[in-house]
This record gives sequence, structure tokens and C-alpha cells, in this order.
Amino acid sequence: MKFSSRRYSAWSLLRARFAGAGYWRPLWSGRTLQTAYDVVVVGAGGHGLATAYHLARDHGLRRVAVLDKGLVGYGNVGRNTTIVRSNYLLPENHYFYEDALRRYETLSRDLNYNVMYSPRGVVDIALSDDDLPVLARRGNALRMAGIDAELLDVAALERFVPALAPRRQRRFQIAGALLQRRGGTVRHDAVAWGYARAAAALGVDIIEHCEVTGVHTQGGSATAVETTHGAVQAGRIVFATAGHTGLVGRMLGVPLPIETHLLQAMVTEPIKPLLDTVLVYVGPGHAESYVSQSDRGGIVMGGHLDGFPSYTREGRWHRLEDVVQASVELLPQLGGLKLLRHWAGTNDMTMDGSPLMDRVRYDNVFLNAGWCYGGFKSIPASGAAMARFVASGTAPDLIRAFGLSRFATGHLLDEPGYGPYPVRL
Ligand SMILES: Cc1cc2nc3c(=O)[nH]c(=O)nc-3n(C[C@H](O)[C@H](O)[C@H](O)COP(=O)(O)OP(=O)(O)OC[C@H]3O[C@@H](n4cnc5c(N)ncnc54)[C@H](O)[C@@H]3O)c2cc1C
Repeated sequence: MKFSSRRYSAWSLLRARFAGAGYWRPLWSGRTLQTAYDVVVVGAGGHGLATAYHLARDHGLRRVAVLDKGLVGYGNVGRNTTIVRSNYLLPENHYFYEDALRRYETLSRDLNYNVMYSPRGVVDIALSDDDLPVLARRGNALRMAGIDAELLDVAALERFVPALAPRRQRRFQIAGALLQRRGGTVRHDAVAWGYARAAAALGVDIIEHCEVTGVHTQGGSATAVETTHGAVQAGRIVFATAGHTGLVGRMLGVPLPIETHLLQAMVTEPIKPLLDTVLVYVGPGHAESYVSQSDRGGIVMGGHLDGFPSYTREGRWHRLEDVVQASVELLPQLGGLKLLRHWAGTNDMTMDGSPLMDRVRYDNVFLNAGWCYGGFKSIPASGAAMARFVASGTAPDLIRAFGLSRFATGHLLDEPGYGPYPVRL
């Protein structure tokens, strides 16, 4: 595997200090906004950048722009808890997320950029003997689809996660777990930077600080986007604006089945290696936590949404307390640690918890949205599939179930509705 990033020795860092800004090579170079493109992608998060990259790489489209009102990586793509997995129960979901996980496995090589995929395993914990069959059902569905899943009894779980032993210190009993070994974490900003760099190298214009404020139409088609830098003609438009999708609906005059909710995450001070996997836990009081340890040593934790629609990025204390409570129930060792930082992002929640990849209102306007808790792990699959959809005009089979019409026909993909163990991050 060849990575183009330099190795920085103490000497090279010293040289950089005196050589000034010219020493650091930008990952992608600034471009000037053109007046017309074949495809304009709105939103330089993971989904927008991956879509643009695949449009250029797989479909040979060179006149592609990605416009963002802020900076690359400042949205949710750089705010998540970095968990990737494909262990969903519903076939539409597990095949789609498995496609993404397979692409993550080779993404560093494909982008020639180290995204630090760490297949450390994702462990869903069962608290009672009643929970185990629910996890077993999910595991069986996955195995029948050729996706790895293992049901662990308590002894096997404690072997896999030594931090969970000894049993007597735990406040609540644990009955077992479902493990997906190939699940794990991927460095989130590296994913944004890697796609941005690779897309720019293929000629995609990435324009930051350029907000799309409207869509021009003529004869039933979209013709251009209005931006804070003026109008830009577009053959096709892709909206990949995550938490801002409700506003896009308003812009297009189409109410979308999406609400924007806050999701928080937090990280402790760094400690020595304690946890080399991802634990997902829903406590008896329904407080939820997913816990992993970052490469820097901090314990990263996340939980439920804050539970009310908002575009602010200021989380509420009660959710922070909930997540910490659940994490300490699971791993009492964390009790004495200091929280270093906590932050929030705006999540585009659909009413069934599954994403939307479809045309919206006009034949040449495409929507990539509704990622809920799963929008990071899905990036490589949605990027490739949306690019194919946009380039060919036909939705690939992999994403056909994620259309808007399911809210009219009632064919919802309600993954959390299938059992008391909603799988989230
Ligand atoms: C705390 C937290 C933890 C999470 N943990 C996980 C996890 O562990 N695993 C997982 O799979 N998912 C996780 N998620 C969800 C995941 O991060 C998001 O679903 C995903 O990043 C959304 O897609 P994106 O990367 O394209 O979005 P974003 O990075 O938000 O990109 C959207 C971009 O659109 C731009 N934009 C919006 N409106 C306009 C406009 N009008 N004009 C121009 N630009 C515009 C924004 O500036 C933004 O940069 C988490 C989310 C949060 C907040």
C-alpha cells in the first residue's frame, strides 16, 4: 500500500517551522467557481464528497462542483463517533451497509489516503436472557446474508472484552452479546479529507463558503442553483446537506419526512489502553451508550438524540448525564475520569430511521438524506450508488428501497420497530 503523506521526523517539523506555510502541501487546491457544471453537489460532508468522487472516477464526469456553505469536514462528518458496522436486521439495510463496510475495508488504498479503518469489533450487549434471542435473530439474519455475526455467552464476552470482567463489580447482570468483528471505527476527518483530495485530483471543484439559497427552474426541470456567489447553471443537482435537509425541502417547495435533531458525543481525558472494541449498551433505565477508545486514549461516548427538533449545536445536560451514567454502569472503571470535551451535530431524522436516496420534485434534482444515526458508516456505499443514480438516471438495486414513496405506500424500513434492541450507532 502506498500513502503519499510525508513522514514527519523531529527534523522535518523543525524545518517546516522555519520554511513557513509553503512547506505544507494543501490536500486539495482552491478552485474558482465556474458559471456552469454538469453536476452541482450541495454539501461537502461525507456524502457529497463521496458522490462527487464517484461521479468523476466511475462515470468520467469532470464538470462537477461541490458547494458548501462552510468548510469541508465541519458538519456531521467530523462530529460523529466514527463507528462503522453492517449488523442491521432488515435486508434492505444490511446489504446496503455491508456494501459500505466492504468499501471501508479498502478505502485507504482506493483513496491513497489513510482513513485508519480499525476493525476492532462492535459488541451489542444483552442484559437479560430475554434480550439474547433478539440479538440471535439479528445475528441469524446477518449470517444467512453472508455477513459476519457471532453470538457470545458471558464467558466468551469477557474473553473478548477483558475490561468487562470481573463480574462482581458490575451493577447489572450481562447475559451475552452479539459481535460483528469487522465492525469498528474509521477516522472521520480523514474520510472527508481523503474524498476531498481524491475528488479534487480528478478535477472536481470544491468551493467552500458558498451557500445554496435557491433553485432556478424552467419547463419542469431545474436549471441552476442560486448561491451566495451568484447563480450557477447545473445539468443535475444533488442535495447532500444532512441536518439542513428540511430547509432544502422548503427551498424546493416539498415537505420532507425529516426532522433535525441534536446528537451529542463526548470524550474523556486520555488514559492507557483499556478498550480495544466498540461497546453498545442500553441500560435497564433505557439510557444508552456506545463506547470506544480513541487512538489518543480518550474514551469516546455517545447516546440517544436530545429528542426535540433544533438546528443549534448546543446539547442538553440531561443527555450528557444519561450517556455518562450508562457508560459507567457498563464500565465502572470510567467513573473517575474527567470529561475533556463534548459536542453536538444536527442529524436528519426520517420517521422510520432509514435514509432517503431519491429524486425530489424535478427529474434532475436528487436527494441524499435522512441518515439518522447511520450516516457516517454509509458514506462509501451511498457515494457510489448515488453517483450511479445521477449519472445513469436509474437507481441501483442497492438503494431502490430508500425512495420517498415508501412514506406514501407504507413500505417503511422501520429497523428500530423490530425489537427492543434498536441498533443505533
Ligand atoms: C454526535 C454524532 C455522532 C454520530 N456518530 C455516528 C457514528 O458513530 N456512525 C455513523 O455511521 N454515523 C454517526 N453519526 C451520523 C453521521 O455523522 C451523519 O449522519 C453524517 O455525517 C451525515 O452526512 P454528511 O457527512 O454528508 O453530513 P455533513 O458533514 O453534515 O455535510 C452536510 C454539509 O452540507 C452543508 N450545507 C447544508 N446546507 C447547505 C446549503 N444550503 N448550501 C451549501 N452547503 C450546505 C453543511 O455545511 C455541511 O457541511 C453521528 C452524528 C453525530 C452528530
